Amino acid sequence: MGSPSLLFNSAVSAPRSRAVLALFIALVCMLFAGGQGYAQSELPQVLAARVSTTPERARVVIDLSGTTEFAIVSLDEPERIAIDVKAAGVPTLAPQAVAGSGIVASFTTTMAEEGRARTELTLNQPATVQQAVVLDPVGGQPARLVVDLIVTSDLDFKARVAADLAGSLRLRLPDGMSGASSAEDPFAGTEDTPSSEEPSVLPEASTSAAPSESSTAPVAQAPLAAGSRPLVVIDPGHGGIDNGASAPSGIHEKDITLAFALQLRDLLVQSGQFDVALTRDDDTYLTLNERVTLARQNRADLFVSLHADTFQAADIRGASIYTRDDQATDILDKVLADGENRADIVAGYVKPDAKPAVVNILVDLMRRQARQQAFQAATDIVKAMQPSVALRRFPVRQADFFVLQAPDVPSLLIELGFMSNAADIANLEDNSWRDKVVEAISQGVSDYFTQMRGK
Ligand code: ZN
Repeated sequence: MGSPSLLFNSAVSAPRSRAVLALFIALVCMLFAGGQGYAQSELPQVLAARVSTTPERARVVIDLSGTTEFAIVSLDEPERIAIDVKAAGVPTLAPQAVAGSGIVASFTTTMAEEGRARTELTLNQPATVQQAVVLDPVGGQPARLVVDLIVTSDLDFKARVAADLAGSLRLRLPDGMSGASSAEDPFAGTEDTPSSEEPSVLPEASTSAAPSESSTAPVAQAPLAAGSRPLVVIDPGHGGIDNGASAPSGIHEKDITLAFALQLRDLLVQSGQFDVALTRDDDTYLTLNERVTLARQNRADLFVSLHADTFQAADIRGASIYTRDDQATDILDKVLADGENRADIVAGYVKPDAKPAVVNILVDLMRRQARQQAFQAATDIVKAMQPSVALRRFPVRQADFFVLQAPDVPSLLIELGFMSNAADIANLEDNSWRDKVVEAISQGVSDYFTQMRGK
């Protein structure tokens, strides 16, 4: 079959913050900092710089004769983003206008001072760094710094300018450069600047750590920018040839889950707080793996799979929510080993050849965090359901459902009720009960993200 794509239902281009995660990763990368410094004489040349941009995002690529450190600052009046790299020189480049009506209007690349090349982007609208990665030379391609920008709010941009001015970009620098921190010189020393005897430059693992630190730490300090809506992916269980459970009336689980999913989508979209996407919005068959992959590829902030299964004991009834069993590492590891390269999971956070130990720790952190968040979301949804919906005893449960396996997406599975129980079937087929449940789930999701923002 063709490769499925998510069915989005609101502005999908809105930037999404993975602030907390980014913070964790920045911390880990700092732990792994250590290694060779760059002497001034080894500084690479900037070979070229280019920018492609749309109204929602922009990518800046700076070709380099070798990997190096970088720093990024936001500047005001006019709104600019400056990307500094430690470099020996730049080619003579005229200021360039950027084609199209995108985030970036124009840019220049010049030597700001000896050892520091600055690519300054003049913005059409406030933007922020989504990710920034230094890539090793590969094939015929030179080393390069890739910086992705996404739109942000005026308020968020101003906050960044202020933070940068305050010297809050905590970069670790080699040369014991001292002097006041200033946005115009992001390489200026901070209190953390190590001595020149022990240059804790952005080392091997931290060429990639640098981006996390410089581009996402400010995000972690700020609340979600206005206009950055979390992405909720709703997965109606079963579909197509897979009916799921069936009621005596002939109605199938796949139809019930779809009806709930469509209504939940509408409610979440109406709230204006979320981007919402469905894994299917009609009677389509998707494998479990495809569902998980869709959530992961789109970097969902929450994945909600809806089911109404059967149980041998017909007296078991009520709604419940499952998150992944925290002890189920054996299965997860197998899955990861099967289909995925662990490094893929952290792509964009560490460079491809990062040490396995670094990758493993990042994956573990992501997994742990995703599970904690899933558990929190499940708890919030159950709390919202409690007053109006019949729940199982101990409604928040853990199990090894395959569909909950994404290590980097908080994932939960809602059993709306049991199609093996007559009272539950009556509920599941009742429109007013559906209204009530969908309302409660939507409220719980909203409560969860409100909490996350507050963190
Ligand atoms: Zn099911």
